[in-house]
Amino acid sequence: MIFTNIFQQLKNNDNSLYFRFWANCIFVKGHRKSIVYDLQRERIIYLSNLFFETYQRYKNIDIKSIYADSKNPNRIGFLKIANNLIDNDFGILVDNPKTLPPLITDYDSPLLITNAIIKTDSSNPELLYNSIKSLSNLRIQALRIDDHSKMNNDVLKKLDDLVRQSSCEQIYIRTNFSSYFDKMEYQLSFRFRQITYYNAPADIEYERKDNSDITIKYSSKSINYKDCGNVEKKYFTINLPFFTEAQHHNTCLNRKICIDANGEIKNCPAMTKSYGNIRDITLKEAINKPGFKDLWFICKDQIDVCKDCEFRYMCTDCRCFIKDPENIYSQPAKCTYNPYICLWEGQEGYVPVEECGTYSRKTGFVPDKKRINELNRKIWGEE
Ligand code: SF4
Ligand code: SF4
Repeated sequence: MIFTNIFQQLKNNDNSLYFRFWANCIFVKGHRKSIVYDLQRERIIYLSNLFFETYQRYKNIDIKSIYADSKNPNRIGFLKIANNLIDNDFGILVDNPKTLPPLITDYDSPLLITNAIIKTDSSNPELLYNSIKSLSNLRIQALRIDDHSKMNNDVLKKLDDLVRQSSCEQIYIRTNFSSYFDKMEYQLSFRFRQITYYNAPADIEYERKDNSDITIKYSSKSINYKDCGNVEKKYFTINLPFFTEAQHHNTCLNRKICIDANGEIKNCPAMTKSYGNIRDITLKEAINKPGFKDLWFICKDQIDVCKDCEFRYMCTDCRCFIKDPENIYSQPAKCTYNPYICLWEGQEGYVPVEECGTYSRKTGFVPDKKRINELNRKIWGEE
């Protein structure tokens, strides 16, 4: 049976009822703030850490007993928020606290590699074609091709032929602008999702007017790997596959492979370490070389500062641009969020994370609680 309004039930019902989050709504506690991730509807709601702590305390206590717990001045506030969460379909009242077992957060994939990046020069496309044939053997899901030349329609057509024989579901191409896209004589496969022309005279985006649904973008920027690894809210991903992967793996590098324009096989396009050349070894041999998979298993719970951040299971984790290149567990260098005071750079009162603690290679980042409390009192009027 489903019960909806807490205060109605307190008046009417003799049953013992318990507030529960739906199994797909997961509470993630940060240093100062918590978030409930709704992994099914791909949305979030911010809650205080006090609510999180009260929820933990009252988890197996029925709402009538909570209401009667006069020693706790926060109980009515807690019940009001819980009621609001039920109204917004984040939770429910159940008559048996064991009704909703926790979500299983195991992660696995039948694919050895899920996403690949090829850096190429399409004016000399043989290496590109060979790389795609090699990747086809790995049954990848998504492929990005970064072309530092100007990809012509013949190369595009040949790519289309090659990927039609592969398992790849999504292809993104970045190449240089030569002229505005007019029309192609043939229909590209549905696998092509986006073609971006860089160094274009203007920034324009449109959908192709045929059945392919390809997005064509013109960007006045250049392809620059130094731009990779930015941390912004618009890059956050809230869904079950990302969340479960983030529990066990690195959310950028897990099952990723890159082949650069010289055929060197790497973890990511911005990294320098090569595990061999595609002309000499197979991709499988490179992946199985010692060290290649190490970064796959570094997850947010191990990263300085990120482990205290409420966004940690929706944020992509860059391991290339990090605050201390000698410490692989240091925070992404391009993060401009401070989870100790819940502010982004540019917001009033923001100070960088470095002002909230001390960092040493031996201990990692150690937050200075006194300083953080002072800052939070100043910014928010509370600790
Ligand atoms: S590790 Fe960093 S630089 Fe490399 S692909 Fe990921 S976000 Fe980009
Ligand atoms: S601290 Fe920055 S990089 Fe780390 S999880 Fe939070 S937003 Fe992402």
